[in-house]
Amino acid sequence: MFSWDDPDDRIAIVQMDAELHHAELELISAQCATHQLRLRFSIDDLARFGERSILRKAIAAASDLNDYYSSIEKLIPREAAGPNTGGTMLPEEQISRATERVLAYLREQRDRHYAAGEPLSAEHKALMRPFFSPGILDRVRIVELGGARLPNPSFYSEAKALGIANLPQVTHMASLTFVDVVVFNERITERDLFHGLVHAVQFQLLGPERYTRAFVDGFLRTNSHFTVPLEAHTFALESKFVQNPAEGFSVEEQVRIWIRERRY
Ligand SMILES: [Zn+2]
Repeated sequence: MFSWDDPDDRIAIVQMDAELHHAELELISAQCATHQLRLRFSIDDLARFGERSILRKAIAAASDLNDYYSSIEKLIPREAAGPNTGGTMLPEEQISRATERVLAYLREQRDRHYAAGEPLSAEHKALMRPFFSPGILDRVRIVELGGARLPNPSFYSEAKALGIANLPQVTHMASLTFVDVVVFNERITERDLFHGLVHAVQFQLLGPERYTRAFVDGFLRTNSHFTVPLEAHTFALESKFVQNPAEGFSVEEQVRIWIRERRY
């Protein structure tokens, strides 16, 4: 078993967490795909008309994953498991105040980084053109901090005092989108750029106020950054891009569908 006292083990633990995070993202994308099925077809139709061999493989994969993660869940030490996984209930007044704080933070960061931001390079634009409108590709500015990393917002201490746990660790995220500026903690990868641009589209189509409210509501409901619908949708689109970067689709159209269906 690993020990925090052994430096080699500490590196191995960080690598393990990176792989766990990767697995979690893939699982969320599988959840999104299944959610689409659930919305569109009844389980009776799936059971009767779904292609038998594919159904069996999907069921076997899901039950295998369930067995595996349940076996880990049984071993999580009590105090580390955390009691608060079902969301946080706050009165409307506090939710709107929280939304205002987050929005002020996003706007302040946007203004702070905009001047240092650069337009997308010709190479990045060419890569992203099959997915994003020229309007977005021309407007968005990007900033590479090269490891300097964004600090967590100052309002986090207040949020913790309200009992909100599991706040997204800004420092550990690949990038953050502040309206139309995407700030990267590390070097830009194509995947992270795609991710940041999806958020820019969401900001544009929802407007910063609705985006922020949807984020706050989603976070309080699920208590996890990755299951906030704005984020889960972004990860699902990102995974579609990574699997087939040559096959374009309109991110804007996908975001419009989610807005129309009130899924954010
Ligand atoms: Zn994101």
